[in-house]
Amino acid sequence: MADGLLIIGSSQAGVSLATSLRALGYDDPITLLGDENHRPYQRPALSKEWLQGEITNESLMFRTHDYWVEHRIDVVKNERIIRIEKRDDGSGVAHSLSGARFAFDRLALGVGARPRRLLLDGVDLPGVLYLRNADDALELKARVPDVRDVVVIGGGFIGIEAAASLNRMGRRVTLLEAATRLVPRAVGEETSAYLLDHHRAAGIDVVLEAGVRRIVPRGDRVGGVELSDGRVVAADLVLVGVGVIPNTELAESIGLVCDNGVRVDECALASDGVTVAVGDCANLPNPVPGAPQGDRVRFESVNNAIEQAKVAAYAITGRREEYARIPWFWSNQGDVKLQIAGLSTGHDRTLVRGDAERGKHSVLYYRGDRVLAADCINHPLDFMAVRNALSKGLSIPYDAAADPSVSLKSVTVDPTALVGAD
Ligand SMILES: Cc1cc2nc3c(=O)[nH]c(=O)nc-3n(C[C@H](O)[C@H](O)[C@H](O)COP(=O)(O)OP(=O)(O)OC[C@H]3O[C@@H](n4cnc5c(N)ncnc54)[C@H](O)[C@@H]3O)c2cc1C
Repeated sequence: MADGLLIIGSSQAGVSLATSLRALGYDDPITLLGDENHRPYQRPALSKEWLQGEITNESLMFRTHDYWVEHRIDVVKNERIIRIEKRDDGSGVAHSLSGARFAFDRLALGVGARPRRLLLDGVDLPGVLYLRNADDALELKARVPDVRDVVVIGGGFIGIEAAASLNRMGRRVTLLEAATRLVPRAVGEETSAYLLDHHRAAGIDVVLEAGVRRIVPRGDRVGGVELSDGRVVAADLVLVGVGVIPNTELAESIGLVCDNGVRVDECALASDGVTVAVGDCANLPNPVPGAPQGDRVRFESVNNAIEQAKVAAYAITGRREEYARIPWFWSNQGDVKLQIAGLSTGHDRTLVRGDAERGKHSVLYYRGDRVLAADCINHPLDFMAVRNALSKGLSIPYDAAADPSVSLKSVTVDPTALVGAD
């Protein structure tokens, strides 16, 4: 019998690849292998609804046990691949830490990313946590009842979401961000400013331009965080969310080109032309229409993992479907439901529409008269309109969008018809 496809990493990207393949009629054996001791589960709620006790463990699961059995997807838990032997035709054997061997005809990497660790005195104290997987989340949730003061280091999405959840759970939360504004890499200044005001008003002590000198002990566990100005912020628990590093070690060990992720083409094929890499571990050509030639990106989002897995599934079944989708993302932060469509890179002006006072508004990013992206706060209609326009290659004229009474959907146009479009 054929060995089939081995997918290393059984999270969003690996799961999406396996399910897409079966949906396309791929009939070879599929082994979906991961090193965690859980059935494949979804991560987004770990910092939000699940942490706050609003949803059950079971609702995190991607699929039922019966689904995996019926679709002949062999889900392997708790096996960490440490070495791969790969032949030129793409087949080979993967060896796990436990000594097990997994032979494959074809290999897919969906190994994701791991949290960037802080290198400071005190980071190994009990009570200093990271949040990437279910075990991290279980530990965080278990500690919350014994905790009053929480310091979150890092004002990116995960840090803010966790801070908002812990604040709602009645903890005293300080959020430290090294930059001059929140989520500086992913949203524009207007959205950062809104989030700052909102979370401060909700009771989170947000400190911008915060330098962290060390984690201070209290007895044999964490007691606080010392800032570079000498101030110590009390903490019974410190949650670190300062970004992630793609897991490229296995790919490098089999000679695949890596550069901030496993380098893949539009079809998710790595440099050997046969192994696929999908999700947070992959570095792909910027898929946004009109992106600068040669520009590459590595996304950290559910949408990207799903879409990239689809094109990888086509590649594995011998069909060429290029990844050319509009990236989108969501982040629920307490009362704020932020949805982002497109990439704002290269914008030269912005437009705020809606009611920012009431927290129902959108920030549209334009280059000339062409819309590139939108951050929509509690405004799903604007989000859908911009996302649909971008995915059809359409635009939304700036002047028309400036009228808050019009629906963006109703003013969507073909950009070639726009006077002054670039
Ligand atoms: C708390 C949290 C909240 C998030 N919220 C959102 C959100 O609101 N919206 C959104 O779009 N995205 C969100 N994300 C991001 C999203 O979850 C990721 O983009 C997505 O999980 C990426 O999936 P992946 O399969 O590429 O990688 P990962 O989810 O990182 O999974 C990779 C898997 O591979 C395993 N693995 C790695 N190396 C090996 C090995 N050698 N052998 C075996 N197994 C291995 C890992 O343990 C892991 O299980 C969130 C992420 C987190 C952590």
